[in-house]
Amino acid sequence: MADPLPAACYMLGKARPGVVYLVGAGPGDPGLVTSRALELVSSADAILHDRLIPPLLLEAARGDAELLYVGKHPGSPEVLQEEIERMLIERARAGRSVVRLKGGDPFVFGRGGEEAEALAEAGIPFEVVPGVTAGVAAPAYAGIAVTHREDASAVAFFAGHEDPGKADSALDWEALARFPGTLVVYMGVRRLPEIASRLIGAGRDGAEPAAAIERGTLPGQRTVAAPLGELVEAVERAGLAPPAIVVIGPAAGRRERIAWLEHRPLHGRTVVVTRARAQASGLAAALRALGAAVVELPAIRIVPRIDTEEVGAAVADLHSYALVCLTSPNGVRLLFEAMGEQGRDARALAAATVAAIGPGTAAALRERGVIADVVGERAVAESLVEALAGVPIEGKPALVARAAEARDVLPAALRERGAKVDVVALYETVAEPPTRRRSRPLARPTI
Ligand code: SAH
Repeated sequence: MADPLPAACYMLGKARPGVVYLVGAGPGDPGLVTSRALELVSSADAILHDRLIPPLLLEAARGDAELLYVGKHPGSPEVLQEEIERMLIERARAGRSVVRLKGGDPFVFGRGGEEAEALAEAGIPFEVVPGVTAGVAAPAYAGIAVTHREDASAVAFFAGHEDPGKADSALDWEALARFPGTLVVYMGVRRLPEIASRLIGAGRDGAEPAAAIERGTLPGQRTVAAPLGELVEAVERAGLAPPAIVVIGPAAGRRERIAWLEHRPLHGRTVVVTRARAQASGLAAALRALGAAVVELPAIRIVPRIDTEEVGAAVADLHSYALVCLTSPNGVRLLFEAMGEQGRDARALAAATVAAIGPGTAAALRERGVIADVVGERAVAESLVEALAGVPIEGKPALVARAAEARDVLPAALRERGAKVDVVALYETVAEPPTRRRSRPLARPTI
């Protein structure tokens, strides 16, 4: 394991009572949540959040934390900004630690500035935790460096507003058309036809490279690239929907060379991992690294059964077995736990031939100082039976330590060869019902 000290240096402390934290959650990829954001989310009393926050981030919240969704609901009126500010202030005044969690960066089209002002005015101490903003991250994940040295020495962020009710009169289209660099548009897909025609009408070159990136940094990220004058049609053809970032400028033209995420072999695919949660992370990480969206939905859970008499007796007699077979990494872990409870260590296996059903089980043994003598190739009983063919076991005592509900293939094969076989169950696998913490949508503000 890595030295824990450097990680500890990135921890600044838990959320403090009476303080409001305006926290950016990044654009969606859980890897782009800052360590400070995670520390605050996992320690706050209350979290008021928007819609575009990384999936599962709220799972890090304390079990007793108040989770409130204050973003827009399709079809129902959004919580008024003043209402949100009032809720932050009330909770802080009541001595609670409050995280106001927003997608991307809280001060980039996130209304975090207004909330900070309201807090300052109310005399509430607050901290701002910047986040990785979608306007930089989504292009980066799509292969666009917004200030590529050859192409752009400036970048302009502006909001197109999905909401037709919101006027954009503040935008100076002539200035944007003249802007010597990359244009990055937030909240712009729905109004892309108007944005593109206004820019071109004001003199921006319709042949300039452009791209729209939907769900940037998330596993389902999709990018549509076309010259500005053709982008609207390309986006419509692809059916791109919010959230999306639009990038306009020569830097977008280098995408073909720089794109990387979308080239991963499992990009755009979703894989469900049904393994027990404690063991799923290795597999899930490997799949994610290949570009898959991974849904962890444990179908089983391991329940240890090492306090039984039969396990106790087998462990006490471990030194007398000529052959000890382990049939899973869980079995290895629990056998060593049972050994530990009797004050024993790896030396109890010194006299035995140790057999592992497959490489994962052999690795679990190695971690505990035991190199397996026999390893099955494919982690199934038949494969271990094959691997044991050359081991003389006739008339000798053998132990098979495994799950309660395993097949009988291995013990039967060993008995057929004349071994005296003891079978002990170290654990049971039980069905795990799926669970997920959900944030409470805001009905009536409470405190
Ligand atoms: N504070 C946020 C922006 C909030 S405005 C930030 O700094 O990123 C919401 C807009 O951000 C969306 O309409 C979309 O244009 C953009 N956006 C947020 N997350 C995105 C994502 N994962 N991919 C593409 N665009 C995203």
